Amino acid sequence: MIICDGILSDEIYRPDMSEEVKLSKIGFVIGHEITHGFDNLGSMYGKDGSLVVTEDNPYGWFTETDHNAFYEKVQKVVDYFNNIWPVPQNSCIGEIESGEAADDLVKRNT
Ligand SMILES: [Zn+2]
Repeated sequence: MIICDGILSDEIYRPDMSEEVKLSKIGFVIGHEITHGFDNLGSMYGKDGSLVVTEDNPYGWFTETDHNAFYEKVQKVVDYFNNIWPVPQNSCIGEIESGEAADDLVKRNT
């Protein structure tokens, strides 16, 4: 996991914040980054960081049932982002947004 120090800007870190607030904010970032290991891209890799989804092993470390249930939910996120227009004439690209959005949704569901 890599966390660029540029993220430690005003929202996440300011010298005038209490130690508790600083730790909670960086903990929030670390938690978010950890969930990337389980999103639609990260879940394609195993515990040692090597690609486990292959032609011979299309479900990686998922069971077929869990894989299908997971990608059913991923598709809902993709569809949602493909149908919102945050800026006129520029929709989001759900396939690109889905990993980041899924990680943010996990935070909101916990
Ligand atoms: Zn992220």
